[in-house]
Order: sequence, then C-alpha cells, then structure tokens
Amino acid sequence: MSDTIRRTGSCLCGGVQFSVSGAPLRIGLCHCKDCRKASGSVYSAYAIWPREAFESTGIVSTYGTRSFCPTCGGRVAFVGDDEVEVTIGSLDVAPTDDLVPEYELWISRRETWLHALPDTEQFEHDRPTTNTAELPAPRPLSDVVAGD
Ligand SMILES: [Zn+2]
Ligand SMILES: [Zn+2]
Repeated sequence: MSDTIRRTGSCLCGGVQFSVSGAPLRIGLCHCKDCRKASGSVYSAYAIWPREAFESTGIVSTYGTRSFCPTCGGRVAFVGDDEVEVTIGSLDVAPTDDLVPEYELWISRRETWLHALPDTEQFEHDRPTTNTAELPAPRPLSDVVAGD
C-alpha cells in the first residue's frame, strides 16, 4: 500500500497536528444549526475516516461531537469510537481536489444564495444511519431546486 495517500492537517496555530491515511468513508456538507454555530460559517464540509486511519498530536478540547484547539479555537478532527470526522478546511492542502462531497444534510437550512451541489444526495435532516429500507429515499436534485 505504498501509494496510500496520507493527508495532514492542523488547527490555525499549529498546536494540534493530525494525519489521515487512505480514502475517506464518506464526505458531506451540513447546514444544520450546530454546524453553523460551531463554525461561524453557514455550513461545514467534512470527511469521515475509519478511526485506525487517524493519528494526532497536541491537546484538544471537545464540546459534544466537536473538537477544537484550546489555544486558537480552530476546529480539528473529532475522534469517535469507530470513525473520525475531519473538517475539510482543517487539512493543509487546498483545494483538496479529490475530496468532493457526496451528500448534503439539513438542506432546509441552506442559505438561499447557495445551491444544491450537483450529483449529491440531498437530505432534509440528518443522514439516515439505520434501517435505510424504511426511510424515505433522498429527494432527487430536481425536486430540491424546484421546491422551497
Ligand atoms: Zn491551535
Ligand atoms: Zn451539522
């Protein structure tokens, strides 16, 4: 696996450094209230890696499922039990080119001057994680553009 891509990232001040190896499990945008408040921006863009693909140094503070540097306040990767959520903007190289979101969450909160990303799944709220057979299918993009 010598060609496995390894990406590095950090907070704004550099006190927290991390890396992720290999391809992410999924990539998304979220327009929910928590993402807006936590980032101060109108949405967050993030990618999820398996826990074992992640390494980090430095001290982080956490609030709920968010992690940030206690010195500069920069958002950094949040480490869960099985997965790690990395805000794409915390990665060192920009643009990231091949990290393209596959879905958008909480589109009812999307700013009206933003548009649905082409070829992405659109969800009114959170991404369904269990029993997907019983959940409504994501709305086709054409409905999203025409509605609301
Ligand atoms: Zn920092
Ligand atoms: Zn969110």
